[in-house]
Amino acid sequence: MHMHERASPLSCPICRAADAREVLRKEFNISCNCYFEGRRQYPTNEGSVLYVECQGCGFWWAPELHGWSPQTFKRRIYNEEYRLADPPFVFERPTRLAAWVARFVRPGMRVLDYGGGEGLLARTLREVGIDAVSWDPFYDDASEKPAGSFDLVTCFEVVEHVPDQRRLFFELASLSRGGVCIFSTLVRPERHEGDWWYASPRNGHISLHSANSMRRVCEDVGLALRDLSSEVHVMARTPSQIAQLDLPYVMVNGTPEHRLDGLL
Ligand SMILES: [Zn+2]
Repeated sequence: MHMHERASPLSCPICRAADAREVLRKEFNISCNCYFEGRRQYPTNEGSVLYVECQGCGFWWAPELHGWSPQTFKRRIYNEEYRLADPPFVFERPTRLAAWVARFVRPGMRVLDYGGGEGLLARTLREVGIDAVSWDPFYDDASEKPAGSFDLVTCFEVVEHVPDQRRLFFELASLSRGGVCIFSTLVRPERHEGDWWYASPRNGHISLHSANSMRRVCEDVGLALRDLSSEVHVMARTPSQIAQLDLPYVMVNGTPEHRLDGLL
């Protein structure tokens, strides 16, 4: 795969500004797990992917991958080898986050895990008596979106995979109307130069927020935002709905020890 520069200016998916600039070019086959393991997980060099930064809101995205079809994502990224890019995705993360959610969910709350893959997080919650369902527009594309609204919508490590951010946030706002939405995606550090491990194409990380772009997209869907950490964020109609939840700290990914230049 080789990136071709587009002749027309790129319009930011968040703020519509048309002055995005190149910030990073990274080999398609580099994954976040390379930075945790300190070695390549996929041996072949399949060309590089361009990331651009919006000069208006600081959002980073990979324009070429934003144009891919779901079929191309399934073939190139979410295939049998995807586990190598993100080993905790299969079991460790969903069960750990389910245990975290179970600590603060109140009796009678209806929970939707949005983008929960094969549904392990919701299944784990049901096993301890919590009314939880999973719906993933990518995995469950043949089945109906659950009807109604939920007291709690969770959406862990989904945002960074989705090209259409406005549509995603509108959907989360609609599903959690009246309730709260807890989501995770790593927000880029304020002062950032050079490579960033979370911007790894092989994971499908194609939409990466700054604090500014995240605030902006939440405002656009009419929700208040509170950051629990750089990874975990809460949205609701009013700040008081967020304040009513007593949320303990949770780590989603942690920070890898290795740098890219040490592992190529
Ligand atoms: Zn922007």
